[in-house]
Amino acid sequence: MVAKNKKIRALAMFSGGLDSILAIKLIQEQEIEVTAINFTTPFFPNDKAIESASKLGIKLIVVDLSSNKNYLNILKKPKHGYGAGLNPCIDCKIFMLKEAAKVMKKEKFDFIITGEVLDERPMSQTYNNLKIIEAESGLKGKLLRPLSAKVLPETDIVKKFLVNPNQLLAIHGRQRKEQFGLALRYNITEYPSPAGGCLLCEKTIKAKLLDLFEYRKISEIDFNELTLLKIGRHFRVGKTKFIVGRNKEENEKLFLLKKSKEYLFHIIGASSPVVLLKNEKPKKGEIEIAAKFTAYYSKSPEKNILIDYWKDEKNKEKISIKLNDSEMENLLKNKIG
Ligand code: SF4
Repeated sequence: MVAKNKKIRALAMFSGGLDSILAIKLIQEQEIEVTAINFTTPFFPNDKAIESASKLGIKLIVVDLSSNKNYLNILKKPKHGYGAGLNPCIDCKIFMLKEAAKVMKKEKFDFIITGEVLDERPMSQTYNNLKIIEAESGLKGKLLRPLSAKVLPETDIVKKFLVNPNQLLAIHGRQRKEQFGLALRYNITEYPSPAGGCLLCEKTIKAKLLDLFEYRKISEIDFNELTLLKIGRHFRVGKTKFIVGRNKEENEKLFLLKKSKEYLFHIIGASSPVVLLKNEKPKKGEIEIAAKFTAYYSKSPEKNILIDYWKDEKNKEKISIKLNDSEMENLLKNKIG
């Protein structure tokens, strides 16, 4: 018997993926009002969540963690460790749930739901880790996982008759047959793939992020630096980083993401990458290295190559570079990742 004397309101953790959509559908069926909340980071964009929320016709609260230093601290040193990439899923979920709990309190939601499924993922969805996430987020009794509720301990949400337990499910395991069946039942035909989404799970970003944590304090890392991790080939020579654009799109992004006192390198009028030198006061040797990367990746047949470089586009300078195979071989060993 569900309490009917007041409108019950749930806040749903929402990635835009199928599991989070289904959790919302199950709760909406109980005539409970659901608002979604999404956390966006430079590693997990929110376009899918915005699109899915719009299709579902529900309100979406977006919380941007891109410049949140506490979140970066968790990425750097997670209490519960990383998954296969640099994904600290347990700590990340605890952090996001704590933030969601603040919204729940402020906006007077009755409880929080998630699309988590017992044992669907090896790291954060084991029985023990689901319990840890609930306890450490401070949401004991206030967190409902509708897709797996019948195979998890009963929550206060059920005990207080805020939801009907008979309409909750007992899905568990990695096979997603039941979710696909539910998707058909709800006529959900489009949803992002479960593997897509968080770049922290990808090994390519791992080395670049570890390098950033080694050379920059958390207080110095901004959105710009995090966004650059997704662009180009990265090299660290000494303490200085060099980023080489791999295509037209990345070259254009390097133009946009260059800070005013940093240097860009390019061969004007030729097929050439853009190279960003991440140092506002480079030494002559570092300017030469950036020019060598530019020349090398331009694949110019010339022996002496003239490179344009500038921090201020109105005051371009030129440097002539002669590539030496063994020196270049050594420089390329400094690739990050
Ligand atoms: S996949 Fe990424 S966003 Fe999701 S919990 Fe793990 S680290 Fe956080």
